Amino acid sequence: MTNAQPSASHFINGQYVEDTAGTPIPVIYPATGETIATVYSATPAIIDAALTAAEAAQAQWAAMTGTERGRVLRRAADIIRDRNRDLSVLETMDTGKPLQETLIADATSGADALEYFGGLAATLGGEHLQLGDDFVYTVREPLGVCVGIGAWNYPTQIACWKAAPALTCGNAMVFKPSEQTPLGALKLAEILIEAGLPAGVFNVVQGLGNVGASLIEDARVAKVSLTGSVPTGRKVYAAAAAGIKHVTMELGGKSPMIVFDDANIEDAISGAINGNFYSSGQICSNGTRVFVHRAIKDKFLSRLVERTKTAVIGDPLDEATNFGPMVSDTQRQQVLGFIAKGQSEGARLMLGGQAIERDGFYMEPTVFADVTDDMTIARDEIFGPVLSVLDFDDEDDVIARANDTGFGLAAGVYTNDLTCAHRVIRQLRAGTCWINTYNLTPVEAPFGGTKLSGVGRENGKAAIEHYSELKTVYVATGPTEAAF
Ligand code: NAD
Repeated sequence: MTNAQPSASHFINGQYVEDTAGTPIPVIYPATGETIATVYSATPAIIDAALTAAEAAQAQWAAMTGTERGRVLRRAADIIRDRNRDLSVLETMDTGKPLQETLIADATSGADALEYFGGLAATLGGEHLQLGDDFVYTVREPLGVCVGIGAWNYPTQIACWKAAPALTCGNAMVFKPSEQTPLGALKLAEILIEAGLPAGVFNVVQGLGNVGASLIEDARVAKVSLTGSVPTGRKVYAAAAAGIKHVTMELGGKSPMIVFDDANIEDAISGAINGNFYSSGQICSNGTRVFVHRAIKDKFLSRLVERTKTAVIGDPLDEATNFGPMVSDTQRQQVLGFIAKGQSEGARLMLGGQAIERDGFYMEPTVFADVTDDMTIARDEIFGPVLSVLDFDDEDDVIARANDTGFGLAAGVYTNDLTCAHRVIRQLRAGTCWINTYNLTPVEAPFGGTKLSGVGRENGKAAIEHYSELKTVYVATGPTEAAF
């Protein structure tokens, strides 16, 4: 490991902890297939140590004022920004995403979350309700020990998006990163300690799904926030339900992007490229069903293909590269399987479709045209660089088709007609929508899904509701009346 890499598998009670009795998990650099580190899955002793540390530290952390808690988070944001390059290189090694992306979208968005929620910390409170001479006040209290479980596409951002609101509210957290990308969260834990976080408030343990499951089942845990797929969401939600625990579920999507015939075509193509090929398509909110009005379909397709051909595919550590490998060969094989299905079900392959013959888990950015609503590639989440163009003629019809999915994470509309844009967005069932842009997720704005795409919201003031609860206190000023 290099100096910039974490020095052990877990981070508990303010320090790195190793326990080689756990199953080894290789950390593979997706651009070469080389093993760059090994972490060890948490044993029951490690899981217990993390929860014990979190439980012990939480009360002291919650007893600090919001201003004091916020100061720690804001210092951590500053440290992250100072070390952005090192953290971005680590994120690129962990995920394979181009450095061109990780420099601006990963640690930096994590820092935004720490800064934003750090700023909110001092403003959190309840309300006072006068009831004649009596009165009620409410106290906003932390939930206690929260568990965060991450996916592999934005490891550092996901850790920060969960830790920042949780810690702001006075909770402690045990975070389990994805087994495929275990490194970034450890650096966050290290930086939080440097910023003054009391030991034990934020802990990281490694492992596969079984470690996540053990954490959720533990009676000391009050809440779980998962970023992952719908099948995992079902299991985690059910396990949390058994203990009546709070949940946030950030799950998958199959989001529509609707391009009307009056749209600025180049902007719409930019939106489609960002919403399908950024991070090699491994983004939950991607607009993978691009509905294009038939009147502009040919022009849209020819420019889309022309522009996609200019993608710079290569070494992700070279800042000129803007399209990197998939996170793993398994993920690449799954995506190639979807492409084969698309072809066999009659979609027209316009570009790409193949694995790229070089080391690492590269594949071509892929564009399908003539995709219809019933095709597998229009129904299932692919989580790879596969863009499907579907034709439409009529506004009401395209709204119905866009909504005809079990998912409801995101949606986008491109049009220069302001009233059309708002009319259509109002009818789309999705948690996060864009008009004339796609996939922008600033920390100020709540983010999350409807239907199978999830429960709860991350970011914005909305996230506070999901990491705290209200205690109601009735204060009587007169005698207590009783029937007898
Ligand atoms: P995944 O569901 O396979 O794994 C997610 C996490 O859950 C991992 O850390 C995994 O170890 C853990 N896990 C698995 N089984 C578990 C269990 N039974 N109990 C507890 N934890 C368990 O997802 P992935 O492949 O890592 O990520 C891709 C998926 O994540 C896609 O579906 C994508 O849409 C979704 N995602 C959603 C968002 C969002 O904000 N909505 C963001 C990124 C990714």
